[in-house]
Amino acid sequence: MDYKKILEDIHQEILPFADKGHQADYIPALAKVDPDQFGMCLMTVSGDTYAYMQADTRFSIQSITKVFALAMCLSLKGEDLWKRVGKEPSGTAFNSLIQLEIEKGIPRNPFINAGAIVLSDILISSLEDPEGEFLHFVRELCGDRTVDFNMEVALSERECGYLNAAIANLLKYHGTIENDIERVLMFYFKMCSVEMSCRELAKAFTAFTNFKPFDYAGFKLSQSRIKRMNAVMQTCGFYDEAGEFSYLVGLPGKSGVGGGIVAIYPMRYAVAVWSPRLNSKGNSVMGMKALELLTTATQESIF
Ligand code: GLU
Repeated sequence: MDYKKILEDIHQEILPFADKGHQADYIPALAKVDPDQFGMCLMTVSGDTYAYMQADTRFSIQSITKVFALAMCLSLKGEDLWKRVGKEPSGTAFNSLIQLEIEKGIPRNPFINAGAIVLSDILISSLEDPEGEFLHFVRELCGDRTVDFNMEVALSERECGYLNAAIANLLKYHGTIENDIERVLMFYFKMCSVEMSCRELAKAFTAFTNFKPFDYAGFKLSQSRIKRMNAVMQTCGFYDEAGEFSYLVGLPGKSGVGGGIVAIYPMRYAVAVWSPRLNSKGNSVMGMKALELLTTATQESIF
């Protein structure tokens, strides 16, 4: 497959979408990002890499971080994790409070904010140095020791994170989180603030293609667990647009409000794409289009 040419063709085809959508501005530090950027990187399980445009520019991975947190929590807790958080698509916005209230503080899935705040609580309770171990895990996955939190972004989000604070309070009220709310929120914001490039994300996510046993920084997952993580990415990875993403792209993955999307073609490759302008559901406009064109051109999807 000539991925190099396919990526170049995709970029030409998505240019008409270049000014569609708006970057996230509810986190003030993200509003400063130049919205007119685009990068893409496809990495096969054998390490062949096809990087295009700004594939090496780091950006705020935001919700993509939830996949890393889920992998760590599943490794620590196994199936018991699902007593604290569900695995059904939510059908509501990623920061919705209503569903959480109706369902008595058990988040629908680990990829909505409430679910990831519970993952943060679990990591704080289970690890001696949650921040250090989280970074070590992500650095092992992507093979770069300089990957780090961006504290300006984390603090900027904390300053205006009223909804996430409300979610954390509701979770605490229902006894779903154990630790101090401030501690849990700050850890959650730090995880979201991690900056990585498309190349680093593609490398990290090849670990979730299930082509070899998962064992990074002491966190191990069986192939069956990785398969199930992919199932959760497929059904819950794209906000309230997981159905549309399945329909158009047909790959499991995860997006973030920094404009990044990572998708997985099981046993074959991971592909990361980034462009800050988002659609009304919070997914990158150019990113989604690029991945739709990729699976159309290659006819490589899970369906
Ligand atoms: N830190 C962001 C928030 O909690 C993550 C949102 C996202 O990327 O979906 O709102």
